[in-house]
Amino acid sequence: MIKKVSKHIVQNEPLLFEQSSPGKWGYQLPPLDVPPVDAASVLGKENVRAEIEDFPEVSEFEALRHFTRLSTWNYAIDLGLYPLGSCTMKYNPRVNELVARTEGLAWAHPYQPEALAQGCMEVIAALERALEEITGMAAVTLQPAAGAHGEFTGILMMRALLEKRGNARKKILVPDSAHGTNPATATMVGYSVENIKSNSRGMVDLEALERAVTEDVAGLMITNPNTVGVFEENIRKICGLLHDKGALVYMDGANMNALVGVARPGNFGVDVMHLNLHKTFSTPHGGGGPGAGAVAVAEVLKPFLPGPRLKRAGDKWAWNYDLPDSIGRVRAFYGNFGVLVRALAYVMAHGGNGLRQATLDALLNANYLRALLEPYYEIAYKAPSMHECVFSDDRQAKKGVRTGDIAKRLIDYGFHPYTVSFPLIVRGALMIEPTETESKQELDLFADAMISIAQEVDQNPELVKTAPHMTRTPRVDEVRAARQPVVRWKRPQ
Ligand SMILES: *Cc1c(COP(=O)(O)O)cnc(C)c1O
Repeated sequence: MIKKVSKHIVQNEPLLFEQSSPGKWGYQLPPLDVPPVDAASVLGKENVRAEIEDFPEVSEFEALRHFTRLSTWNYAIDLGLYPLGSCTMKYNPRVNELVARTEGLAWAHPYQPEALAQGCMEVIAALERALEEITGMAAVTLQPAAGAHGEFTGILMMRALLEKRGNARKKILVPDSAHGTNPATATMVGYSVENIKSNSRGMVDLEALERAVTEDVAGLMITNPNTVGVFEENIRKICGLLHDKGALVYMDGANMNALVGVARPGNFGVDVMHLNLHKTFSTPHGGGGPGAGAVAVAEVLKPFLPGPRLKRAGDKWAWNYDLPDSIGRVRAFYGNFGVLVRALAYVMAHGGNGLRQATLDALLNANYLRALLEPYYEIAYKAPSMHECVFSDDRQAKKGVRTGDIAKRLIDYGFHPYTVSFPLIVRGALMIEPTETESKQELDLFADAMISIAQEVDQNPELVKTAPHMTRTPRVDEVRAARQPVVRWKRPQ
């Protein structure tokens, strides 16, 4: 019997609190060379504690190793396929990082005078032009910090335009397949939300839409391709219906990975849209790092863009603050600049043809997986898939196995789960987005895992219902973890 297990191979990492031993230090400071002051007299007695109960005492190296070991437990796009539908978890070429770390760009200060920021302003201008070309829209702002923030900016501009025309109107229409941020955005801008139901093909029901578009409607927020991975075939007609009633069309462009280089929302009638630069334009995300929600507008909305805007002053760039109809700033300074640099590097490294090829590969990969998995899982809608495919757990549910169970079992096979139970209109959804950056080998491995799980559901459903089995921690109670989190460690008595 093994008596002593080597900790750094098993990596059964205890909490830092449990590794504490009294008197250990992380740092040794040089002797004080200024007169000491009593902390309580400066900060107030009530703000000074004699002791923090159970504060961990470890050496610098122990702290470093602890967090380094924990970091190896994370799943990452750099380890394998990350099939989270709707999230576009693709490989972020390292050249983007290299460019973003270029000294003059990484260390630029937002208060630098214009004369010393010409290069950064050129980056912003070049990216705006590229995204105008890609979306077919008239102008772009790079200020918003994320997709949801872009939505907010876009609907604020819509509201400003309608107000200027004399009536901001009352309602925003949102299809029932929409991402939760869409109705949330409309509500935050002061509109009420009316749901439009989808038809049996997973697209907006035109008759339902026609009935809903009244003079009270400010606009429609539509995702295309939508969240079931299906292209809204009637998009021109849909835009026409709204425009005929003086309303506008907002496109949630989070799924632009399926359109870049192939179709331009500006050409099919969209008035305003956002792009998630951290999804489609290759900035690492998922860890809560900075993103960017560039917003593109048609000509009618240009005067309402957030300021300041870039303008030409002779042969130089300058900031224009004289924008009487602008909705104002939506963010400090000029956006998450590092993300903008990465996006421009990505666009320029690919070029037009490369971007188009990436889109075609994303579509091919999703449809390849769909073809491999359709014999085993129920496809939610028969319409052709774009860059992601959505299944339901209908067949597995007959054995009492739900989408969440299958996702947990995938972890045992070494994969990050797909998106579970979204979109809500599909009962027990499995939403899979492989992206263009995966090889056929990786897709085959993933499909093998999914097929193997489908067979396990038939032969031994309990095995799947109790997964994961190979992880450091068995299945956790996610509801309890969210509702009753334990955030303070107590030394066991
Ligand atoms: C990701 C996503 C959003 C929100 O974008 P964030 O950058 O996370 O705020 C909105 N709509 C859809 C369809 C998305 O996939």
